[in-house]
Amino acid sequence: MSTPISIPVPSSTSSLVSLFWEKEAFREIQELGFLSYYKDFKLLLCSACSCSIFLFINTFKSHLLQDLKLVPLDLQKTIITQALDIFKSLEVSSYKESLELLTSFTLYSPLLVFKELDLLDLYQCKFPNCSTLTSSKTIIKRHINKEHKESIITPLYVVVKGHSLEANRFFFEIQSEFLNP
Ligand SMILES: [Zn+2]
Ligand SMILES: [Zn+2]
Repeated sequence: MSTPISIPVPSSTSSLVSLFWEKEAFREIQELGFLSYYKDFKLLLCSACSCSIFLFINTFKSHLLQDLKLVPLDLQKTIITQALDIFKSLEVSSYKESLELLTSFTLYSPLLVFKELDLLDLYQCKFPNCSTLTSSKTIIKRHINKEHKESIITPLYVVVKGHSLEANRFFFEIQSEFLNP
């Protein structure tokens, strides 16, 4: 079973829109309810740590060992074996590739908040053809001073809502007007 978490799209555009599905890959294992897999973005998220999990199986295993450290050892071993089998069947990509998939998705459909990740205030450069997005006001100001010194536009940057796939890297914007529909 999968749960659609995108808003319904008008039928006229639906052929363009790849729906935003959360595949409940790990839901059969009650103890792994904190993991969500998003097939469209080849993205595996952990709500226990508010983070995304990278593509290597060893990284995934050590991540699980941390998250399941309070589970009795026998059970922990069984769960991890099952989880690794599921992981092998999933397509999980690099942060860079997931970010590209997320960004191209927004061309056709609004991207909603990911319940697993922290919601951040991000600073987005407003210069045409520049997609710089950062969580730091200092960094966006430095970027503008360095890259767009000669240009004058207002505003120079805007604050948007978004997430990051890695601590302080791989930022993406979500459509905050859909936060509280
Ligand atoms: Zn975790
Ligand atoms: Zn810029």
